[in-house]
Amino acid sequence: MAGLDIKALLAEHAGEDYDLYASAINPQFVRMLRTIGYDRTWSRAEGSYIFGAAGNRFLDMYGGFGMFNVGRNNPRVRQALIDTLEAETPGSVQLGVSTLPGLLAQELLRRTPASLERVLFTNSGTETVEAALKLGRAAAGRPRVLSCEKGFHGLTLGSLSANGGVEWSERFGPLLPGFSRIPFNDLDALEAELRTEDVALVLVEPVQGKGVNLPEPGYLEGAQELCRRYGTLFCLDEVQTGFGRTGTLFALEHWSLEPDLMTVAKSLSGGYIPVGALLMSTHVYNRVFDSMEHAVSHGSTFAPNDLGMAAGLATLHELDEQGLVGRSARMGELLLERTRALQESYDVIHDVRGLGLMWAMEFAEPPGGSLAWRMVERMQPALFTQLVAVPLFHEHGVLIQTAGHRMNVLKATPPLTVSEEDVDYFVQALEAVIKRARRMPSSLVRFGMRAARPGRQRVKA
Ligand code: PLP
Repeated sequence: MAGLDIKALLAEHAGEDYDLYASAINPQFVRMLRTIGYDRTWSRAEGSYIFGAAGNRFLDMYGGFGMFNVGRNNPRVRQALIDTLEAETPGSVQLGVSTLPGLLAQELLRRTPASLERVLFTNSGTETVEAALKLGRAAAGRPRVLSCEKGFHGLTLGSLSANGGVEWSERFGPLLPGFSRIPFNDLDALEAELRTEDVALVLVEPVQGKGVNLPEPGYLEGAQELCRRYGTLFCLDEVQTGFGRTGTLFALEHWSLEPDLMTVAKSLSGGYIPVGALLMSTHVYNRVFDSMEHAVSHGSTFAPNDLGMAAGLATLHELDEQGLVGRSARMGELLLERTRALQESYDVIHDVRGLGLMWAMEFAEPPGGSLAWRMVERMQPALFTQLVAVPLFHEHGVLIQTAGHRMNVLKATPPLTVSEEDVDYFVQALEAVIKRARRMPSSLVRFGMRAARPGRQRVKA
């Protein structure tokens, strides 16, 4: 008997993607995409590109929230998945273990600091953060968690409680008790909280994803040192910065950090299978999994699963073999250099920053003041960045995002496979749209207002 013919099913429903999504999943999201004209039917994706139904190519500077570090639909990761399926591996026995999780755990530990000696697999970034919070509290025997203002750690309740902004959490309280936020890059504020000696862990992104905020020299090293001094666990959230994103395999290498806990996810499986991992010190492990009775103190039905593990092993192999981490550093430098050059010509560019292929351009009212800028911002905060991002998509075939809620920051986290030509193309397109947005013709402003409206409704709904 034949199984489901998925290709025939796709062919039969070609062009119904948005209607299907709207009828059974999320009509508000579809409404928003339709309003700004992002309701494209996508036909396929490869490396750093996504193709429209007519075969037109879009450059992906978004990278699926930064999860396609080895390129979309990487053929070698896919082959590892096919091989695993064909091998009919006995994964997820549950009352037993298989080979692939142990191998992936070894490969992760081989590439991370000596302070990390055990791995707990999960299915997503936020689930990994939840594990860090839960295990960190138990290991430290303390209740409190410190995280940074403007930080982002995911959308489940523990992560929401740790996030820096209220935009995701304001309707979902009460949040978990014991969470406090401190300004990023402020060691005095951190020490003032740690002195109470009731803080279990400090959760921090090495580079903050929302806004691409970089740590000041000495900040992360100082935070780690303060954590050691006051008996607090130091947890780095590398969900976004991991696997070559910042030009080193893990961002912690830039500052030679040795955390007690580290979270990874997103690109671990090359974007194919939901998977994450919490790396921890033996101290943390031993405090939580301290007896046979506590052998399964934390876990989940699907974690670890053999497909995720195979994809993880193949992704690490791919990063090494294709030299993608070095490429991220080089392309990131190039992107910074070329976009910083734009700053001299366009006074609306307030800042250009980045590390590896985690890049941002911040816009602000020109130093001399601009009535047009103030008008646009009065209509909708951060509208200017939409006036850049939306035409980049429609007129230049570049998929890119704003860095966060109401931020006048354009952010790129492309696949690490982007080429010098891609960077050139992006910079030229970016310059063309900034030049036009800077003049802010009224038609563009009207378009921007239309584009911004569903965003407002979504927040209120
Ligand atoms: N931590 C960081 C730093 C992130 O950037 C994200 C997602 O963007 C998460 C955690 C949550 O990951 P996920 O979306 O897989 O739950």
